[in-house]
Amino acid sequence: MADKFFLEVVTPQKAVVSEAIQSISAPGSEGEFCALKGHTTFLTSLKIGSIRYKDAAGNERMLFVNGGFAEVLPNKVTILAESAERRKDIDLTRAKEAQARAERRLSDKAADTDIVRAQAALHRAIFRIKMAEIR
Ligand code: ATP
Repeated sequence: MADKFFLEVVTPQKAVVSEAIQSISAPGSEGEFCALKGHTTFLTSLKIGSIRYKDAAGNERMLFVNGGFAEVLPNKVTILAESAERRKDIDLTRAKEAQARAERRLSDKAADTDIVRAQAALHRAIFRIKMAEIR
């Protein structure tokens, strides 16, 4: 049985995860990284993507993460994210509405549209939909 270490995933709204885990992979901005207990210390920013980890009982878990930072210590991984939610908590209808809203903004081409913001919203929505639809 793998050695356990600790995972905390925190957003400005809530603590999403706080539990002992066996392993984790996350979307670092320089590329996907994996960690087990005892990993050397490092700090990285995160892209939009999925965090996958094995909980203490060995169950595979998945979270959506909307950028942020990860601090990896030998005994603990801390993730500070702009927003994050467990795959099972993704509201598919809400994500589809967010996608439609962002697509409308991008196609309307109104002078006051913040294109970068709309593209980021679209990227989040598409990623959430993909994750929610994984079976
Ligand atoms: P929306 O326009 O629907 O608010 P968003 O991408 O702008 O989407 P975020 O800023 O990423 O939303 O997140 C704000 C809060 O709402 C966070 O707590 C996040 O976990 C939650 N959230 C956003 N979209 C969803 C969703 N589809 N299902 C569950 N929670 C969501």
